[in-house]
Amino acid sequence: MNRKSHFPLSISALLLPGLVLFSPVAHSGVFAFAEVLQNPETITHPSGYTGAEDLLEVTVCIDPASESKSELEVAIHNSIQLWNGLEPETGNAVFAPDSGVPSNKVDAESVLLHELGHCLGLGHPNLASESGLHGDGRRFAKTLAGGGPDNGYTLDRGADGVIATQTDARGNDVNLHWFRKSNNDPFSIASTVDATTYSNDLADLPAGHQFATVAGAQVAQSRGLERTEAVMHQGIHYGEKRCALGHDDVAMIRLGMAGTDRTAGTDTDYEVKLVFVGEQSDCDINVKVGGNTFAYCSISGGQIAPNHWAISAAQIRLASNSLINWHFNEERAGDSMFRDTFANGN
Ligand SMILES: [Zn+2]
Repeated sequence: MNRKSHFPLSISALLLPGLVLFSPVAHSGVFAFAEVLQNPETITHPSGYTGAEDLLEVTVCIDPASESKSELEVAIHNSIQLWNGLEPETGNAVFAPDSGVPSNKVDAESVLLHELGHCLGLGHPNLASESGLHGDGRRFAKTLAGGGPDNGYTLDRGADGVIATQTDARGNDVNLHWFRKSNNDPFSIASTVDATTYSNDLADLPAGHQFATVAGAQVAQSRGLERTEAVMHQGIHYGEKRCALGHDDVAMIRLGMAGTDRTAGTDTDYEVKLVFVGEQSDCDINVKVGGNTFAYCSISGGQIAPNHWAISAAQIRLASNSLINWHFNEERAGDSMFRDTFANGN
């Protein structure tokens, strides 16, 4: 199967910082291109996938013209470890001082982790800034607008009073958010992730549920979980660190890995491995610090099968140090022998 579209898409996806500078007060998954194509069935795959590959090696490099190249190398190394590991955790969204990120700085590593997710084909599970909404409205589950009163959306948090849960009443908004069919719980993951266990058709929700639940921090809090938020959920705060992937992040990558037939265990399946190749400018994903926009991953892609797209080029840009007070973590993950020994119990 190798049907490349002659109509490539190109979009940019941003991770915006929270509006509250010094306070930790806030503000299942979606694929890139689903919104711009207005097609809930869209699944977007990483660079190199045509439907037949077993292993996708996606290269990441630092643009020679980037600022902070040595600091960026650690951030890329650590973020790659998390995406390649695909090990979901709750309690992954940590604030200062526990995060190790100063409360007046933005953690570049967490932002890079989010942008790499876009470069792999993931979108925001929440409506986010691209909805044109402000404040709490951005936290509702990602949909197409159905003609409602809130900038085209219907935003009713329903009986539990919590935004982005199973009680939300979203009117005619068209759901883009994939959920786990058995429980609609984005803080859990099925052992097999494919179209038999995940859906974005609201008819597949558990009995009594009105809408897909989002892996947002307030939803986690309402369930008594440690502070947890999907890496792909838009919005990060000063002093915050996303130190692991959430269940929803991993589920969306695994759903893509089920391939064009959306069935795990068949020959369209693939695995994806990010590989850091150092300082050059012709990788699948090119990273650069510099410029005026907070952070984005600009992706282009082509269609490989009905409802399936693959990324063809990706560029991550983080704003210049002169504009954003970035924090760069100096510790490379996996460098601590003590932690390895400890974790292995010997
Ligand atoms: Zn984003």
